[in-house]
Amino acid sequence: MEYSCELLIIGAGPAGLAAAQYGARANLKTIVIEEMAAGGQSLLIDQLENYPGILEPVSGYDLAESMRVQAERFGAEFVSASVESVEKEGSRFVVKAGGDRFAAEAVIVATGAKHRHLGVPGEDTFAGRGVSYCATCDGPFFKGKRIDRLPASEVARLGLARTFQNLQVCLNMTALENVMVGAHLRLDRNVLKAAFRWPSLRRADQALHQEAAELMRFVGLEHALEARADAMSYGALKRLEIARALAMKPRLLFLDEPAAGLNPRETLEIDELIRKVAASGVTVVLVEHDMKMVMSLSDRILVLDYGKKLAEGTAAEIRQDPAVIAAYLGAGAAGETS
Ligand SMILES: Cc1cc2nc3c(=O)[nH]c(=O)nc-3n(C[C@H](O)[C@H](O)[C@H](O)COP(=O)(O)OP(=O)(O)OC[C@H]3O[C@@H](n4cnc5c(N)ncnc54)[C@H](O)[C@@H]3O)c2cc1C
Repeated sequence: MEYSCELLIIGAGPAGLAAAQYGARANLKTIVIEEMAAGGQSLLIDQLENYPGILEPVSGYDLAESMRVQAERFGAEFVSASVESVEKEGSRFVVKAGGDRFAAEAVIVATGAKHRHLGVPGEDTFAGRGVSYCATCDGPFFKGKRIDRLPASEVARLGLARTFQNLQVCLNMTALENVMVGAHLRLDRNVLKAAFRWPSLRRADQALHQEAAELMRFVGLEHALEARADAMSYGALKRLEIARALAMKPRLLFLDEPAAGLNPRETLEIDELIRKVAASGVTVVLVEHDMKMVMSLSDRILVLDYGKKLAEGTAAEIRQDPAVIAAYLGAGAAGETS
């Protein structure tokens, strides 16, 4: 097919969408060619709060969608194809994409930009570990605060909780007491009030007791409220650690090898528990070697090989990734999943 327009835009990331909106609003017949989906890199942004005019954080997807709709309202047309060539024919540009020809008076190339690698020794090794290309994207920020130099208690106070690969449970305390410890950052630590058994402290203590018991139920340990931790099974202690971390009311929960050392039944139980935690609104990040669990559970997976990032994506993308297959999954993996 042959198309004709006044303005042709290649790429529908934020730049292409903005150009489309202004071009169409200026009454130019505008066509946008995009090979993926309108939004470009912004589709990867979970919470975007630093675009001009954006007061309340929006997802990159929502922002891109409203930019696309706005451009369409002004008359811009969107074509899904990959641009293969741009040539000049007389006074017009001819763009070839998806087997079609687009003749245009003006072309805007908005195919995005990538950071420039310096190519110096150490750059790859330290990228993401001190060397960064985008201070905001790669920065150690959480809720707008730098967290790389904060003491662990401050990091926890911001809403980051964790469990440990080698259990860090107080074995001489009961299960319930262990969970209550997780809430200590939220407690009133006034020594005088404690010494005189202040009524408000007693009430807070009771409420905490109930809250901890509720969390024990949530992780499936309601039968072990008063059990001493050193009498509990390894699998139960793993769940106890999750309950203790949840007592902090975290926004982000890091699980360090939650399935390590568990039998298949216990692994399934932990798998279900992690789904429940995520469904309750807590973001879960887990480090795990149990590939079956990782693949079935994760929205996004980041694969490391000797400390270096090998791949990042959904389970389906990771299964097809040649580098991951070579390093971990074995030659049959891609076929198995298709
Ligand atoms: C994870 C992440 C988080 C980010 N967070 C923020 C943030 O919080 N705030 C912020 O301001 N910025 C953020 N950015 C950066 C921001 O997303 C980019 O600056 C912005 O998307 C650049 O817009 P663009 O239109 O120039 O390019 P892109 O978004 O890269 O869009 C280019 C488009 O061109 C298309 N394209 C390329 N080649 C062709 C072709 N041959 N044919 C057809 N189409 C083609 C691509 O498919 C793509 O959709 C983030 C980026 C990432 C990856």
